[in-house]
Amino acid sequence: MAQKHKTYKISCGKCNEYLLTYHKFGAGKGILRLYLAHIVSPPLFANLHTADYSSIKEVPNLKCTNCQEVLGTPTLSKSQRWVFRMRQGYFHRKLVK
Ligand SMILES: [Zn+2]
Repeated sequence: MAQKHKTYKISCGKCNEYLLTYHKFGAGKGILRLYLAHIVSPPLFANLHTADYSSIKEVPNLKCTNCQEVLGTPTLSKSQRWVFRMRQGYFHRKLVK
């Protein structure tokens, strides 16, 4: 059975460009980190965890495709999963109903 999740659209806090759609699992309101495996679109970002990277260190920063602002930096979570650590205040999130 599928886990429950909420769907968020993440956009640039500087220029408002839509960047990606994210499935957030678990409790908690804030988005401190984005699990790469839970980015569902667009393919540019959704395929990062299955693309040609053998290590999180090779993954580029999460940048706005329009103004190039850096919104998140790649790192490992405590459970060793690939995540973007999000820069608070640099992005908008909108709950999709
Ligand atoms: Zn931007």
